[in-house]
Amino acid sequence: MPSAEPSPDVVVVGAGPCGLAAAISLGRAGFRTLVLDADCVVSSVTHYPTYATFFSTAEKLSLGGLPFVISEAKPTRRDALTYYRAVVRYFGLTVRQFERVEAIEGSAPDFVVRTRRRGGEARQVHCRAVVVATGYWGSPNLLGVPGEALPHVTHAYREGHVAFQQAVVVVGGGNSAAEAALDLWRAGAEVTLVHFGPAFDKKIKPWILPDLNNRIAEGAVQARWNSRVTAIHGDRVDVVDSEGREGSVMADHVFLLTGFAPNVDLLRGAGVPIDPATGIPSHDPNTLETSVPGLFIAGVVTAGFDANKVFIENGRFHGDFIAARLQGASPPPAPVLSRELDT
Ligand SMILES: Cc1cc2nc3c(=O)[nH]c(=O)nc-3n(C[C@H](O)[C@H](O)[C@H](O)COP(=O)(O)OP(=O)(O)OC[C@H]3O[C@@H](n4cnc5c(N)ncnc54)[C@H](O)[C@@H]3O)c2cc1C
Repeated sequence: MPSAEPSPDVVVVGAGPCGLAAAISLGRAGFRTLVLDADCVVSSVTHYPTYATFFSTAEKLSLGGLPFVISEAKPTRRDALTYYRAVVRYFGLTVRQFERVEAIEGSAPDFVVRTRRRGGEARQVHCRAVVVATGYWGSPNLLGVPGEALPHVTHAYREGHVAFQQAVVVVGGGNSAAEAALDLWRAGAEVTLVHFGPAFDKKIKPWILPDLNNRIAEGAVQARWNSRVTAIHGDRVDVVDSEGREGSVMADHVFLLTGFAPNVDLLRGAGVPIDPATGIPSHDPNTLETSVPGLFIAGVVTAGFDANKVFIENGRFHGDFIAARLQGASPPPAPVLSRELDT
């Protein structure tokens, strides 16, 4: 059913930090902008571990120049949720939450964005341009092993309490796995970390790594390096190492913290080719316009499978490139990452 509201100039799909930042840039450039999200505002941040602290300092997570004021250098998940709600209010962004975009049809300057609200109602919005900033949260990197869909297996970590005095397996070697392993051990769980590599990834938060390495060295947390999970059962996980040695680890809970890859079905459906090797949607990096004129990408979706290229820190400026393109202006200078995130 057509909406009674006036048509926006631009629809931004995704109210993550980069989608909100794009909406601010576009609004400043004079475009009437509507943001649609399948979930709530900054839903990816709501899925962070409950007591997470950001790697980035507050000013590097701020949007549109609105100061992100906290008493510490690095904000917590709760600080960020509070701040991003304030962003929506302060900039008067029009965000429709719990309305999933199912298809982008038509072409510039008359796109039709087809949506479905949580209750099932189908809607459509007409606009001149579309920005897809759908992130990667809903599409974890699956191991593809039997038992991955069992109820005690999850791709997200919230907090350790549920695993108190139980056996857990944490799979992964990045920040999420390292933080979860340590937090679970502190919550009284018996933790085994399984990682296909010989050590943790390079960019583990500096306040986490020595603590966890010491727990592993003293045997409080078990680590199985160079090992892969081959099957998950109700009470244990089967593992094989790089030498072909097989074994089992008891597990009442299994945390598969192996990262995420963007879901690009929406873009593919709109006619944007996706590079099969990199997962990157075909686009011009100077304007972020895809090969479909008037259809843009912003945020982590621009980086394809590489989760270490785009963060809030740099993705928050993508809207400036898009606004410049829509105004026919030159692209702004490329944003830089802080040294902690840039390797
Ligand atoms: C624990 C943790 C700590 C992190 N710490 C930092 C840090 O310190 N610094 C930093 O810069 N980055 C950090 N990141 C990364 C950061 O969260 C991401 O870079 C950021 O969320 C990407 O923003 P985005 O707007 O591109 O996508 P997202 O935040 O993933 O937002 C995408 C939005 O699109 C919506 N969506 C998806 N599909 C549809 C659809 N079809 N229709 C409508 N809506 C849709 C989703 O519901 C979601 O709200 C961290 C990540 C994690 C997990």
